[in-house]
Amino acid sequence: MSVMLETRGLTVRYEHHIACDNLSFALEEGDYVAIVGENGSGKSTLVKTLVGLLKPSAGEVILHNLSKKEIGYLPQSTPVQRDFPATVSEVVLTGCIGGGGFLPFYSKGQKQAAQNAMELMNISPLSKKSFRELSGGQKQRVLLARALCATKKLLILDEPASVLDPVITHDLYSILKMLNETRGITILMVSHDIHCAVEQAKTILHMDKELLYYGTPEGYFQTELYQRMVGLCHADYSREHTHSHGHELHPEEKEENGHAD
Ligand code: ADP
Ligand code: MG
Repeated sequence: MSVMLETRGLTVRYEHHIACDNLSFALEEGDYVAIVGENGSGKSTLVKTLVGLLKPSAGEVILHNLSKKEIGYLPQSTPVQRDFPATVSEVVLTGCIGGGGFLPFYSKGQKQAAQNAMELMNISPLSKKSFRELSGGQKQRVLLARALCATKKLLILDEPASVLDPVITHDLYSILKMLNETRGITILMVSHDIHCAVEQAKTILHMDKELLYYGTPEGYFQTELYQRMVGLCHADYSREHTHSHGHELHPEEKEENGHAD
């Protein structure tokens, strides 16, 4: 496996506020990484910087055999996006814009890519429908097709399930797993749901401005970080969990994780 994207000392500020602090990690081709952390810990800022929407204040993002326009990006949902006045196929096609600059029309190749993405997401029958009239789950499939339109290599998703009900969320996660396992697409996904994150992903990235953990879910289970995330999701479950399986990290481990309580 080779590294497709890495950050070195990546720091991102909003005026004087530091949102990402000295992050260094390497993303392997074929990996499925879940980015977790509390609200305001800099997750969205990190992914926006990776796709080039924000500029680092210090450090760098290095792409290997990958250009920014080959990254498919599904932003965190905003009311404006969800009320987009366009047809499904138009929304999917905007995912191809990355390569074409300000072209007034799309190439045959781009139209084909949009069709392929819609077929893969099972939304071809919806292509002429108005985006704003779709259900939440359908909208998210369309936005995923839009992100896929831009890439065969790397999908970066910011809380793709936060607006979905549990059944449709399950559906979405199955699609992501299929894209990773059978299409070989590398996935980097911000997740607000710690249980899904550890179940779905091969690698966990936990951040709180700084990088606190980057490794397997199995290793993550051993950390206090995980206990605390579970606690945030479900206070009672957390207490039980800590009593039955909890063990303290060694001081060196804490240090290694940059974690101080
Ligand atoms: P997360 O996605 O983990 O919830 P964000 O990356 O959205 O975190 O935000 C990280 C921090 O940066 C928060 O304290 C947030 O208030 C701040 N922040 C985010 N966007 C902006 C912005 N456009 N201007 C100023 N501060 C921002
Ligand atoms: Mg966010």
